[in-house]
Amino acid sequence: MEHIGTFGASAYRIGELQLFRDADEQHIAAALAQCAIVRLADGKRLQDTFRARLYIVLRGALAEAAADGTISKILRGESVGEQSVLDEATNLADITAVDDTELLVIEADLVWQLIDKSNGVARNLLRLLSFRIRAASALLRRRQKLGEFYRQLSMNDGLTGLYNRAWLNDMLPKMVSTALRAEGPLSLVMIDLDHFKRFNDTHGHLAGDAALRAAAGVIHAALRPSDYAVRYGGEEMLVILPDTSENLARMVAERLCQRLRKAVIFDDMRLPLPQLTGSFGVACLGADMDEMQLLAAADSALYRAKEAGRDRVSL
Ligand code: GH3
Ligand code: MG
Ligand code: MG
Repeated sequence: MEHIGTFGASAYRIGELQLFRDADEQHIAAALAQCAIVRLADGKRLQDTFRARLYIVLRGALAEAAADGTISKILRGESVGEQSVLDEATNLADITAVDDTELLVIEADLVWQLIDKSNGVARNLLRLLSFRIRAASALLRRRQKLGEFYRQLSMNDGLTGLYNRAWLNDMLPKMVSTALRAEGPLSLVMIDLDHFKRFNDTHGHLAGDAALRAAAGVIHAALRPSDYAVRYGGEEMLVILPDTSENLARMVAERLCQRLRKAVIFDDMRLPLPQLTGSFGVACLGADMDEMQLLAAADSALYRAKEAGRDRVSL
């Protein structure tokens, strides 16, 4: 950073500087006369880790990189460092010249004097800060939304929208230990669509996907808000019923079985597809079981429903 003169001796004009717009030019020109102008070559970093100062770009431009990698450009007439002057903290942002750049340096004391003396400067500074706050909160909101999006993506199955296996692996052990601790019931219903390979072979894989999505919708819609539906495998779904006894779980499974049988299923072109049925295996958590044993019990029950002729519920 090379010192090349003072503002008073330069040809730059106050009116072009954002911070002094509509402020008393004569008074400000006098106050800034002794302020240094420095030159920063293209690509050079603004190194000023010791003091809080305000910099105004007179020529060229700066790029300010925030900690998260977002870069904002500071153009001619704009300033950096207002915030560090106001809160007297060092400016930690990484600032680099993106052109051969000349900067007006205003020490913190002088910035405060200008604020005290000129309503125009105070108003411009407030406007600037309010703009920065808005930009920062918009960025936060965007990031929050993005985080939410990825969280959803990591928990839900893309085809059916039901919870996925990763969610199950995370949540089922917790639900099992909660139920064991509370000595309350917890039931599972394991569901497998009947003859789904045949359905795919006859109507095509896309129709199969649509049917799978529709079946998941039927199951999901028939549950209480406190229950959970998971896509367990290809055409297998699992329903978790917290605080639900085996007897009640059997009734829920019967209801799901009936709804699926009666559901009219459409493909993506809104053409009706043949009826689908499913087989349902119900299991309830025993006092000596872990989540693997509970899943195995539901799976065996499902196997019995298939063996007994499909389109039914077994315990
Ligand atoms: P069963 O009544 O004994 O369950 O017979 P099934 O034909 O349903 O059983 P099987 O396990 O032999 O076949 C399952 C079929 O499900 C095979 C596979 O093509 C289909 N499938 C699995 N996942 C998907 C999927 O995401 N989309 C589509 N369209 N089909 C799937
Ligand atoms: Mg299967
Ligand atoms: Mg099947």
